[in-house]
Amino acid sequence: MKISLDKLIRRETDKIDLNFCQKVDTINYCDTSYELASPISIDGKISTTKSGFYLDADVEFTVLDNCSRCLEEVEVPIEYSIQGFLVKEDFDEDSFEDDDAFIYDGQDIDLIQIIEQTLDFKLPARVLCDEDCKGLCPGCGANLNKEACSCNEIANDEEIIDPRFAKLKDIFKND
Ligand SMILES: [Zn+2]
Ligand SMILES: [Zn+2]
Repeated sequence: MKISLDKLIRRETDKIDLNFCQKVDTINYCDTSYELASPISIDGKISTTKSGFYLDADVEFTVLDNCSRCLEEVEVPIEYSIQGFLVKEDFDEDSFEDDDAFIYDGQDIDLIQIIEQTLDFKLPARVLCDEDCKGLCPGCGANLNKEACSCNEIANDEEIIDPRFAKLKDIFKND
């Protein structure tokens, strides 16, 4: 998703509007490749300021992740804003202390790359398909949202029958 800054560099304009939706298959973050369940929608602009080119855009898309309890695929909507200066590799870090700065090659910026760099804390650390997800049975691995496995029933029975009552039962049986 490359955007040419040519018109800004040649001062033909002082602002490039970004307003589009693009289909992207995957996005990489922290050595993980996430499949996208929606196109990436971008709404914002790149403008010329006294300190350089400035990117200000809202991004929105949906990634596919797995529920951390039952491992089912979950759609995770992501929506946030990216703001920062576009700088060349040899930029003076001190002059951008209070702002984010994204390095570009002096010609175009790659918005996907910038999204990948800014995904910190945007992806939930723990994805759940549902707050009440019952997860997988530690005994047999069954998805407890979909089926009640037999290991679960045995565990429940043991809890319900108090051993003292179990003894009483035996006494009555003898009568
Ligand atoms: Zn789940
Ligand atoms: Zn089980």
